[in-house]
Amino acid sequence: MHCAAVLGAAQAASTAPLLRARLLGIARHTMTSLLHVPPPQGLLRPLAVPERLLLGPGPSNVPTRILAASGRQLLGHMHPEVLQVMDEIKAGIQYAFQTRNPLTLAISGTGHCAMEAALLNLLEQGDTALVAINGIWGQRAAEIGRRLGADVHELLKPPGEYFTPGDIEEGLAQHKPSVLFITHGESSTGVLQPLEGLGQLCHRYGCLLLVDAVASLGGAPIFMDQQEIDILYTGSQKVLNVPPGSAPISFSQRAREKMLRRKTKPQSFYLDMAWLANYWGCDGEPRRYHHTAPINSLFSLREGLSMLAEMGLERSWERHQEHCAQLCQGLRDLGLELFVKEEKARLPTITTVKVPEGYDWKEITAFLMDTCAIEIAGGLGPTAGKVLRIGLMGCNSTRSNVERVLGALRDALGRCRRSRM
Ligand code: PMP
Repeated sequence: MHCAAVLGAAQAASTAPLLRARLLGIARHTMTSLLHVPPPQGLLRPLAVPERLLLGPGPSNVPTRILAASGRQLLGHMHPEVLQVMDEIKAGIQYAFQTRNPLTLAISGTGHCAMEAALLNLLEQGDTALVAINGIWGQRAAEIGRRLGADVHELLKPPGEYFTPGDIEEGLAQHKPSVLFITHGESSTGVLQPLEGLGQLCHRYGCLLLVDAVASLGGAPIFMDQQEIDILYTGSQKVLNVPPGSAPISFSQRAREKMLRRKTKPQSFYLDMAWLANYWGCDGEPRRYHHTAPINSLFSLREGLSMLAEMGLERSWERHQEHCAQLCQGLRDLGLELFVKEEKARLPTITTVKVPEGYDWKEITAFLMDTCAIEIAGGLGPTAGKVLRIGLMGCNSTRSNVERVLGALRDALGRCRRSRM
């Protein structure tokens, strides 16, 4: 009786989906006393997604065109139209990376997944790897390398600095690694690593060059083929303005040869590049089912790459450079000190600024979030507690966003000052 009344009420309320969902939930719970766990209350409420300007180190805001692509109806993951989208993604990555490598695809996962995929396909137990560490990403790569049983050596630089060819050559000569890992855009410190000559240097020592460009791709020039980079990967949620979950990666001929010489299979089936190369149509063989690609992520990645192709890489690089320079000038005008001293070493996508004395960084970020709905971030790893990180990436890299964040920071500095801590 009670249930029937509740269900009747639920039907009557069919125009009020929230109420209906709640009532049905109660009714189902009352009827099915076998259930020990009731429907969670939170899930009976509508999804809450406030409007925010994401000016942290990523993710950045997603343009409507890309959101619309990810909301399209599904197709089967091996339908010809999806295979066509995969081919277009591959061509878009080749453009973004400036490479003609046939082994170019998107990993179904975030930037970390591409990092793991690169390292686990390249390294076998006992291989020697050299990892350049000037922030958190080198630390992560070294950790992954050790988990794979590789003999990992660390090349260290203080956070805020980059490696010179001399530093790298010393490490190569001393350790004779088969792979060198280096981060192009160090998002934890805001440093841009110069890549000129590193590929040639590595090859002279019989080593492959693996570059993390998660935070720099589209924001600073990279020429994978000309710079002789062997493995390059990025993420989707920064300059590409695509939701996180797909990670472009590419392997040179040298890298493919090293993978072919492996004595053991890579530890992960999911990230085994031989399988992924086939699934992405990179090996000339008929495509076999490997996993079900996140189809809607592919749609949105395709649109992100399409928007980059329409804008043109050079314009994208210029835009990031220009707005980063404006931001840096504005920060200095506010009396703040940039964390990366040398102008040419500043990452054009993510700017690090020292937390001013007498302030708590958490109060500043909370003020921007609570009063202006703007996200900026504190430091990470070696910069935790020391810097604020401001990201201007892809469609978020605009003059008006520079002005908005500077205005919000000015207000924050006026409001959050504390007696000396
Ligand atoms: N490398 C760099 C340089 C990054 O900035 C990030 C993300 N902040 C990653 C790797 C990891 O990417 P994700 O968070 O997408 O796994």
